[in-house]
Amino acid sequence: KPRVLSGIQPTSDSFHLGNYLGALRQWVALQDVADAFYMVVDLHAITVEHEPKVLHERSRVSAAQLMALGVDPERSALFVQSQVPEHPMLAWIMGAQTGFGEAGRMTQFKDKSAKQERTTVGLFTYPILQAADILLYQTDQVPVGEDQRQHLELTRDLAIRFNGTYGQTFTVPDAYIVKETATIKDLAEPEKKMSKSSASPRGCVYLLDEPNQMRKKIKSAVTDSDAEVRYDPERKPGVSNLMNIYAALGSTTLDKIEAEYAGRGYGDFKGDLAEVVADSLGPIAARTKEYLADRAELDRILAKGAEKARQVASRTLAKAYKKIGFFPPV
Ligand code: ATP
Ligand code: MG
Repeated sequence: KPRVLSGIQPTSDSFHLGNYLGALRQWVALQDVADAFYMVVDLHAITVEHEPKVLHERSRVSAAQLMALGVDPERSALFVQSQVPEHPMLAWIMGAQTGFGEAGRMTQFKDKSAKQERTTVGLFTYPILQAADILLYQTDQVPVGEDQRQHLELTRDLAIRFNGTYGQTFTVPDAYIVKETATIKDLAEPEKKMSKSSASPRGCVYLLDEPNQMRKKIKSAVTDSDAEVRYDPERKPGVSNLMNIYAALGSTTLDKIEAEYAGRGYGDFKGDLAEVVADSLGPIAARTKEYLADRAELDRILAKGAEKARQVASRTLAKAYKKIGFFPPV
């Protein structure tokens, strides 16, 4: 079985439709065919402004949402990153393999630091920690959205470099990106990706929104003035984004959508899509609440997941320590 690993940041009270279609749906599906490790990456979340109590609660809500979506802690290791101390330990080693200029080319850092009043070194070295996250598990495939492709390339480069310098240590991972849903756009600003931390609230469909809120956001999505349901991401980014969402959630195709709504304008199309979105995502909130009802049990599940993760992570870390000339962790 291939090894699969991915993570999501607890940077908001709810995940959104982009997280779901770009990554989380694949997480759930891959459990059937892979040995999966899924984590809530709270170490990454402190690279932007945060409040400790809020962060702690969001990590729990994140884990509960993942379970509500179908991540099964019996089959996959589901854990919170801060409970596995091997992550920052390997990150230090990987940082020493990374060129300063190489790290400086990461576009996510440029985007995110431009929006912050105060930029930390942690935000700069984020992709190095991410490389460590992935390499610790000898990961074959990393299901992520398009925005993570560059970080995955860096991870591959670092693995290849380390293996070349010190001898075979890490599996070189591949990004697992589903083309059709690789970047879901913000509904209010369709030239930007939907994001937890920066999207306009009305442009972002949260998984924990009330179904009526979801409908409203879809119906008020920015489109264009030519009233033709046609796929053209360049000239019609708003409509094309909605079509991608429709095709993915309604298990249909772009061609069929164009045929169905030919000559009917945007109103019908948006109305139908609003129902598809509310039907598919509506039940997630109640299921999340159920998992949150017993916090002690949820914390036990996460601790067990962290134990499972540490068994693999500690083995890789010990190997890397030895290769680089360190004393073994005791
Ligand atoms: P933040 O704004 O805090 O970075 P985010 O929405 O980008 O939040 P992350 O936790 O950084 O979410 O990413 C979780 C996963 O969701 C990653 O695999 C990422 O590639 C994917 N993802 C995020 N936004 C989108 C999107 N708009 N379309 C498709 N995939 C996405
Ligand atoms: Mg992100």
